[in-house]
Amino acid sequence: MKKDNAAANDTAVITGGARGIGRAITLALAAKGCDVVINYSGSKEAAEETAKECEALGVRAVTVQGNVASEEDCAKIVETAKKEFGKIDILVNNAGITRDGLLMTMSEEDFQAVLDVNLVGAFRMMKAAARMMIRARYGRIINISSVSGIMGNPGQTNYSASKAGIIGMTKSYAKEVAARGITVNAIAPGFVKTDMTDAMTEKAIETIKAEIPAARAGEPEDIANAAAFLASRDSGYITGQVLCVDGGMCM
Ligand code: NAP
Repeated sequence: MKKDNAAANDTAVITGGARGIGRAITLALAAKGCDVVINYSGSKEAAEETAKECEALGVRAVTVQGNVASEEDCAKIVETAKKEFGKIDILVNNAGITRDGLLMTMSEEDFQAVLDVNLVGAFRMMKAAARMMIRARYGRIINISSVSGIMGNPGQTNYSASKAGIIGMTKSYAKEVAARGITVNAIAPGFVKTDMTDAMTEKAIETIKAEIPAARAGEPEDIANAAAFLASRDSGYITGQVLCVDGGMCM
């Protein structure tokens, strides 16, 4: 049963859509009536579980394994959407990793690996989907950045560089495709409770929480609600923007 005209019958591709923020975005889009293509890298079971939850909402869901650090895999993810649904209306570049450490001791490999997944991965996905969206003269692209890309964060020179890069790339591509009915926006989450932040020490969590005016950590659904709006037909005159969803951390 399609529930929301703003997104009913749209096809959404979500990278890293099986866990954490990506999973919440997948479910929010499915709840709006989107068919979903759930990309995962290693979390096959979680992807299948998420697909089942989407189907229970009355939409079609397919899962596709793929590493966004591979151009070939990105092409495969886009091909899957084309084969199953014939189109991509919404692309959410959510896949991301951290390899934290102080710059002085950070290896070049750790720096490159984070850029390759977080930044170049999003570039590869946008490029693979470009022809289809441009031909359709419609698209909603949402790139997940981070407040770390705006404010910086000690121990995250690689991650902050990738997330700041996402913002510049979002704005440039937004200008390239604005006249074709395609919007490209970024969401910069603040501190959100997921596996990614579970690895942090209690002390680090308390320090960050003290900087959040809303005085609470974000939930994946907080990000998903913003993504669902940017993915909808109602957001058509918004492009090249960075929406901080961070309880006021970054203002
Ligand atoms: P998470 O729970 O660690 O999930 C990361 C997701 O990325 C997983 O679904 C994972 O899929 C996927 N992924 C990682 N490497 C991949 C690759 N090479 N190819 C395809 N998928 C890959 O993290 P999260 O907190 O939900 O983060 C989601 C996004 O939000 C990331 O871009 C992150 O940087 C950003 N963000 C998070 C926070 C926060 O506080 N949590 C704050 C700001 C921004 P598999 O499990 O299948 O590998």
